[in-house]
Amino acid sequence: MLQNLIDTDRSFFIAQRALELMRTYGASADPRSYEVWYTFVSGDKPGLNEAIKAITAERGSISESDLEAIHDQYLSHERIARTTEAASATMLGEIDQVMGMIDEALGSTAAYGESLEEFSNGLSGSVDRNRVRDLLAAAVSATHQVTQTNRQLEARLKETRAEMESLRETLENVRVEAVTDPVTGISNRKHFQDMLHKAVEAADAHQTPLALVVIDIDHFKRFNDLYGHLTGDQVLRLVGMTMREQVKSRATLARFGGEEFGIVLPDAGPDEARSVAEAIRQSVLNRELIKRSTGESLGRITVSVGVASFRQGETAMSLLERADQSMYAAKRNGRNRTVTDGDLQSGTDQLSEVA
Ligand code: GH3
Ligand code: MG
Ligand code: MG
Repeated sequence: MLQNLIDTDRSFFIAQRALELMRTYGASADPRSYEVWYTFVSGDKPGLNEAIKAITAERGSISESDLEAIHDQYLSHERIARTTEAASATMLGEIDQVMGMIDEALGSTAAYGESLEEFSNGLSGSVDRNRVRDLLAAAVSATHQVTQTNRQLEARLKETRAEMESLRETLENVRVEAVTDPVTGISNRKHFQDMLHKAVEAADAHQTPLALVVIDIDHFKRFNDLYGHLTGDQVLRLVGMTMREQVKSRATLARFGGEEFGIVLPDAGPDEARSVAEAIRQSVLNRELIKRSTGESLGRITVSVGVASFRQGETAMSLLERADQSMYAAKRNGRNRTVTDGDLQSGTDQLSEVA
């Protein structure tokens, strides 16, 4: 009891301190950033503390996307690893038990075979009625026993089937969680990187086209400052949704940083990639944001989009850098526009005015 009280006191103390730190560093009150600060104060994960100290020492502040990256590295992965480990331990235990039962059933089937053989040998030697009756009784009892064992095994296998099904679901949920951005429901940074690397390998191996689109919300800091982080998060979701609506092909859609999104477009040439980028930019622009609770109009947001097309032999990193450079060129040229690496190369990014 005393221990419990002490633990409760300690956890309230940690929670309070975590909230203070969140205010000091201007973090949003989002559960993930709270989890990071709570763990920081508890000191349970020295690696996490070092990562936070290194960032704050260098910059005097810590951004939302830093906190997100720290959460991914030190908290979500660990939880996922724990769930997976527990699930595999249960599965192994289950398999052991069923193997034991199968061994037993095999043993009793072999014994049954032997007793049937005894029965037939016994019959061939004698026609004595009493002996036949005894032999039959023994065969019936052996049959009964083996049927019993098989029934037990069958019931146990049914249970195992149900157990395996629920484990499969758990593992599937963990797998999806591990690749999903919790705010927008599209892929997270890690999955984006994996898919980008795979796509580059495939395009290289089969000499097929591949394009990469990078989207960054314009003046998003201003939006957050004006309307708060929670409303800002709704905007992130809106951009994710717009991407889903506009991209139908087998593309990977991801939020790979705070307010930065990426699309890996396998088999897409430069023209197709540009039109996907433009469709998203236009669609975001066309939505007037209305605050649901008050009906207040928050105006519109715009995005700057960079597109790069894969060049044979290059790395994922160099493709991503070119898409980023294109996106920054779109920012420099006034935002709310799409710039491709083709525009950059021909020096026409100044001219590719849209909007
Ligand atoms: P620019 O047009 O040059 O891109 O300006 P910007 O303000 O969008 O860019 P900057 O990089 O200065 O700021 C990005 C802002 O995005 C900072 C932060 O307020 C916001 N942000 C980052 N991650 C999140 C998040 O997860 N949720 C919310 N609501 N805001 C975020
Ligand atoms: Mg940005
Ligand atoms: Mg921005």
